[in-house]
Amino acid sequence: MRLLLVGPPGAGKGTQAQFLAAHYSIPHISTGDIFRANLKAGTDLGNQAKAFMDRGELVPDSVTNEMIKDRLTHSDAASGFLLDGYPRNVVQAEVLRTFLAERDTPLHAALELLISPDEIIKRLSSRRTCRACGASAAADATGCTSCSESDLYQREDDKEEVIARRLEVYLEQTAPIIAFYRGEGLLITIPAVGSVAEITELAISALGRLS
Ligand code: AMP
Repeated sequence: MRLLLVGPPGAGKGTQAQFLAAHYSIPHISTGDIFRANLKAGTDLGNQAKAFMDRGELVPDSVTNEMIKDRLTHSDAASGFLLDGYPRNVVQAEVLRTFLAERDTPLHAALELLISPDEIIKRLSSRRTCRACGASAAADATGCTSCSESDLYQREDDKEEVIARRLEVYLEQTAPIIAFYRGEGLLITIPAVGSVAEITELAISALGRLS
């Protein structure tokens, strides 16, 4: 299964990606996670991305596209992958389409998680993130439910001022990829409301209807 998730920050892409990747036995490839890991490790890539991430802006396409192409050539992605946070604009979507077409491995679906703007702000401003594994947690959680670590923090870009900018960037630059994938006949939309398990079930049953 070659799949990507589309939806605004806070729609639950990262959480759903973990469950869907496990269900289909494919790697979960999150550009945000890769950038954060590079930041933490102090690599050139991390240093290049930092200023953009801190402002809630997109890291330049040249950097992001090369990073993802490199990741998609790792052997674990040979039998499929789940992209989370990529593409973030139509240029990236076109680069991905060309890259996959050249390898004769087109996408099977773009899964859109639909959520209202009010709900996004509520979720993001109360979200905490596990420093060890990157999983999301509630503001009042005392530990990570994915790996049991207790070091939870608020991402710099989950602070209120940056959230507003991330949403603007989403609407201006990322939302147009929904029409792009609709035009490609690849778009599947599900409401991202309800429990995590309910949304996963909805996603799996929608993906199961793919011919
Ligand atoms: P995320 O964890 O997906 O919310 O991503 C966190 C930040 O990483 C974003 O606000 C961007 O600064 C950067 N980023 C992640 N994915 C991309 C992408 N596909 N293109 C450009 N920047 C990205």
